[in-house]
Amino acid sequence: MSEPNLILTGIRPAFPVTHGEASVDLVIEGDRIAEVVPSGTAAVAHPEAVVEDGRGMLALPGLINAHAHVDKSWWGREWVPYGGEATTQGRIAHERAHRDELGIPSARGAELVLREFLRHGTTSTRSHVDVDLGLGLKAVEDVLTAADNLGGAVEVELVAFPQDGVVRRPGVLKLLEEAVALGARNIGGLDPAGIDRDPVAQLDGLFDIVDRTGAGLDIHLHDPNELGAFQLELIIDRTLAVGAQGRVNIAHGFALGDTKGVAQQELLHRLAEGGISWTTVAPVRTQPLPWRAMLEGGIRLGLGTDGIRDLWNPFGDGDLLKVALTFARLHGMHNDEDLARAVSLATGEAAAFVHRSHHGLEVGDRADVVLVDAKNVQDALVRGPRRELVIAGGRVVARAGELTI
Ligand SMILES: [Zn+2]
Repeated sequence: MSEPNLILTGIRPAFPVTHGEASVDLVIEGDRIAEVVPSGTAAVAHPEAVVEDGRGMLALPGLINAHAHVDKSWWGREWVPYGGEATTQGRIAHERAHRDELGIPSARGAELVLREFLRHGTTSTRSHVDVDLGLGLKAVEDVLTAADNLGGAVEVELVAFPQDGVVRRPGVLKLLEEAVALGARNIGGLDPAGIDRDPVAQLDGLFDIVDRTGAGLDIHLHDPNELGAFQLELIIDRTLAVGAQGRVNIAHGFALGDTKGVAQQELLHRLAEGGISWTTVAPVRTQPLPWRAMLEGGIRLGLGTDGIRDLWNPFGDGDLLKVALTFARLHGMHNDEDLARAVSLATGEAAAFVHRSHHGLEVGDRADVVLVDAKNVQDALVRGPRRELVIAGGRVVARAGELTI
């Protein structure tokens, strides 16, 4: 057995949720948790190791942001007023008209966003990254550079995202495939009807790549009501046809919340059959998702920030605990069990969105730990307290709410 590089003493793991409040020590070797032992015993067993005193604080596993756009933010720069039309096509056009003058995308810009994620305790993220005829693969390269610059403190799983459309922009499918070769584990898509106005052609093109390369598909679906539900059916059909169960995710998917009664139950049943997962950023003014039925039916659900401070909207600060709180409020979650579940969705339950088989504070897990001064996980959700200590991949990266790297 190799020597531990860090011992974290006297922490109270937030999960599993108990009222026992038992505190433990973590022994960290390399980037992994090697031992979880009763509080007060680890330092005695490993007198040479560096010790970090957890001071009895609540310990969350690192947060997992399942839907971000780290390539397109103006975080850390001058304020940029909102402009353009408030529709999906309006936002696309506005972004394309103004991103160059703001230097978007850039490796530095992506790094600033990742650093802010990390400061809030996010140690792994799935990020959509724009791939289009204007940029080619530049944004993908920038985000890879940014993640590298942080030494992998935030693990970044890429979705090559055709923000400007697929069928209406010949050449984009080829770029998506090139992005997969460059390291993107997933390709994206966007409103096959609303944007491309040819849902069958977009989905056939995307699923052809999924089928041939083994990449996942993580598709933005804003189209509402019956139009959106129809496209969900097309996606499920193709997922089953190419055997991509477990590799397809719907982002937003407002249509599921719009659909009611038997039609919604039927959709849920078919989504589960297709092994399709879901990510939401819990936007206000949208219909709640049938979150409990989704989870009980085996549909994985992840939370994300979406873009923060970008040409799409001025909101968001990269704190996933705030998204979990918004999710809880949007869905009328009040009791302790549900509040804890909202936090769980922002961490351990999101493991598969970043290709982890398990994520928590157990032996063998990546040593991603966030300490907060909170009574329990519910208190942490409701108050969103400062992150007192963030450990990412076995390394201390933030103290008292500020980054140390
Ligand atoms: Zn998005």
